[in-house]
Order: sequence, then C-alpha cells, then structure tokens
Amino acid sequence: MLYQQVLQQIFKDIQPLLGQGKVADYIPALAKIDPSKFGMSIHTVSGEKFSIGDAKENFSIQSISKIYTLVLAMAQDNVSIWDRVGREPSGSKFNSLVQLEYESGIPRNPFINAGAHVITDIVNSSYDSPKSAILSLVHKLSQNLTINYDQQVASSEQETGNRNYAMCYFMKSFGNIKNDVYKVLDTYFHQCALAMNCIDLSKSLLFLANEGVMPSTGENIISKKNSDRLNALMLTCGMYDAVGDFAYRIGLPAKSGVGGGIVAIVPGEMSIAVWSPGLSTSGNSLLGTKALELFVNYTGKTIF
Ligand code: GLN
Repeated sequence: MLYQQVLQQIFKDIQPLLGQGKVADYIPALAKIDPSKFGMSIHTVSGEKFSIGDAKENFSIQSISKIYTLVLAMAQDNVSIWDRVGREPSGSKFNSLVQLEYESGIPRNPFINAGAHVITDIVNSSYDSPKSAILSLVHKLSQNLTINYDQQVASSEQETGNRNYAMCYFMKSFGNIKNDVYKVLDTYFHQCALAMNCIDLSKSLLFLANEGVMPSTGENIISKKNSDRLNALMLTCGMYDAVGDFAYRIGLPAKSGVGGGIVAIVPGEMSIAVWSPGLSTSGNSLLGTKALELFVNYTGKTIF
C-alpha cells in the first residue's frame, strides 16, 4: 500500500479543520502551543517509514509516557502490579478522584493519572534513578539519544499539579503509594514532559506491533504475552472516557496525551503517531483522532 499517498490525502482532508479543539491550558507551559500544528508518522514492522507535516517537531508526550513506565513495571513483576491497579476502563476523566474513595485507593487502570502514579511508584521502588531508567528505555526504543525531558514543562506541572498531588496523597493514605509522594510525582511530571516528535514516537513503540520485539535490532523488550496484554489495555483504557467511541470509529489499540499526541498500533504491521494540540473534552487530540479515523477508512487497517 502507498502509505505516503494516504498520509498526503489525510493531510489535505484535515486542512479545513486545523486549529479546532482546545490546547491543554491547565498546564501553563502547554497553553502557548500553536493549535494549528499537525504531524503524522508511520513505522512498519518490515522497516518502512513515512511521515507528513510537523512530524519532526518535538512536543510534550504527556500520558503516552505511561506506556514506557508500564513496560518497565511489567518487566519487573507482572503479577503483583495487578493487586495495586485494575484493568478496567474508568468511564471518568483521566484526572478524576471520585472512584478512588469508594474503590479503596485502587485506580481502575494504569493509564488514568492515579493508575500511572502507582506504576511510577513501582518504577521508583525498582530503580535508584527512575528518571534515568525511563530515559534509557526511550533512547533505546527510539534510537535517538538526543531525546530529553523538557524541564520547563516538568516545572510548570510541578507548580500547578495540585490535583495530581491530591490523588497521590489520597492513595498513600490507603497504603497504595510506597515512596515519598513528592519523589513519585517528580518522576511522573518528568516522564510526562518528555519532548519527542511523531517519528521518535512511532519508532519507539513499534515493538508493540511486533510481539514485544524491536524489529530493527531483534531485541526482546517484553514477552509476546505482555505485548498482547499492553495492546489490550490500550484498546480498553488508552483513550480515557472516549475509549468506546475511539474503538467504534478506529478500532486500534491507542494511547493519547494532553500534549495532543496519539500513538496507535496495528498489530503485526505498524505503529502510527499523530500530533495535533487541540483537544476534545475527554483530553484526546481532536484532529489526531480524526486523522486516525481517516487512515483506517482509507486503508481498512483495523483489528476488527
Ligand atoms: N501530565 C498530565 C496530567 O497529569 C497527563 C495527563 C494526560 O496526558 N492525559 O494531568
């Protein structure tokens, strides 16, 4: 299939919609991002790559980073994690606190903020320098050693992240956060502040389309079973309270971030990253979702 032509067609189709949605202004450093940016990149398991628009421009990957920390935590111990975090869609906003009270501090899944705090807590317990461990994984997966944390974004979230502090302290009151809350959230705010572009992102998550193995090096990042499980979690929990609509319209495992990025996996075939900063009310990129829907419509690449 001529994927470059498909990307060109998508780029043409979305032009009249550029700028729609609302950038994540609750994080002050993200409020000033130009909402009319759009980039998209594909890496295939067979070694081809395609990209369009602002695919080389770095943005804040935000919650997409929750995949990297989950990979690190699953590799450590994929049994005990699930005593501390669930595997069900939450049906609530990604930063909601309500379920935590009546579900005794056990978050619904690892991709809502509370669940990601627990996973980052596990990473903090497993590594002396969790921020270096996350960065090393990202460097290995993307094969781009220049990727780094955007300190301005991390500080901006540190200064304004009262909701994240509230839910992390709340879970600690149930005994579900083991480390110092400040340290856990320092790691969390930094992982969210990873600055990457669509090309880095699609390349770095290609192992999820290839049974846990990086096609370019042959390295096993996680077992096939865990790769399947991660895809299942992305399909059911990766797009927050819009996950049903996303599965209906697109039908691919995916993970979004409030920086406007989305990564989608076509198992056995490819990884796709798209970036457009304007968000829907669920906190998912509006045009990113539209672009993935167009991609599936043009190519028929869906898991269903
Ligand atoms: N850093 C963001 C937050 O904690 C991540 C949320 C997201 O990307 N959905 O609010």
